[in-house]
Amino acid sequence: MQSLVLEKKDELSLRDFPAIDREEETLGPRDVRIKLHTVGICGSDVHYYTHGRIGPFVVNEPMILGHEASGTVIETGSEVRTLKVGDRVCMEPGIPDPNSRATQLGMYNIDPAVRFWATPPVHGILRPTCVHPEAFTFKLPDNVSFAEAAMVEPLAVGVHAATKARVKPGDNALVMGAGPIGLVTALSALAAGCAKVYVTDLAEKKLEIAGALSPAIIPVNVTSQDVNDVVKRDTDGWGVDIVFEATGSPHAAKTVFEALCPGGCVVMIGGQPDPIQYDAGAAMIREARVENIFRYAHVFPRCVGMLSSGAINVKPLITRTFDFSDSVQAFEIAASAPPADVKMQIELPQ
Ligand SMILES: [Zn+2]
Repeated sequence: MQSLVLEKKDELSLRDFPAIDREEETLGPRDVRIKLHTVGICGSDVHYYTHGRIGPFVVNEPMILGHEASGTVIETGSEVRTLKVGDRVCMEPGIPDPNSRATQLGMYNIDPAVRFWATPPVHGILRPTCVHPEAFTFKLPDNVSFAEAAMVEPLAVGVHAATKARVKPGDNALVMGAGPIGLVTALSALAAGCAKVYVTDLAEKKLEIAGALSPAIIPVNVTSQDVNDVVKRDTDGWGVDIVFEATGSPHAAKTVFEALCPGGCVVMIGGQPDPIQYDAGAAMIREARVENIFRYAHVFPRCVGMLSSGAINVKPLITRTFDFSDSVQAFEIAASAPPADVKMQIELPQ
């Protein structure tokens, strides 16, 4: 079984990875075996490749990358009831302990024991097949493609962020950052009812893609425009109801309250491996509500539903597709952060 293996920082190989056969390929009664079809390249995969770690998660041993996936069920455990062989599916990559306190409280994504694909020491799914719990595997309607289905994982972050923000119809929002997560957040905010979503970035190409997604998205290039001026001008000085921080940049995080209206909400999405500063005084005079999110919970079926109905269209975000045999090259390209690319995906041989 050829897999895309991160041997160590800066070193990838496409090779046989026999250990996975023994440890993680045993089908339990409530598991399904899935033949993988499409896997998206995530910023976190690239970060493990270029840095060998994300915060406390360190790549100490060779690890298979990939966690944004779709595929086809090829075998079902004896107690599986909702899925059958041949079903096209997408998978939620984090498996919590079903008996943990966090899971019982409905917050399974922040269960300290969660096992998440391609987060050391758990392997990812850039490999021909995987075994996954039925409970975290979601059947796709015929009109949702494998490529769109592999976008459900990043989309879930945006939908979770919009849910935490408690968007109301007609709200105005600002999304800081036009990377994949910023753009799925903008789409989620619109689907949740926002009237207008400002999206900021430094890269003009990314902003062009953002602006083409919807007439309700207003791209703002922060190298030439002050987003606070734009927002204040459009809102008679009031500000936006919600600010989504999706850059992960400490510099951007410092400014999250500037464009926010009194009583508004800031959602921190971008990962911050180190402690950051933000303006607590600016938060206080607005009585700002600040939400933090970690991945997502309970939103995969909602994402699939919105892709199927057309409420959200992620197709413009998929800018490049590679064959599995070219996946090392795909990661090299992704690591160079081409400004015109949003999401790159890898297709496995069928
Ligand atoms: Zn991801």
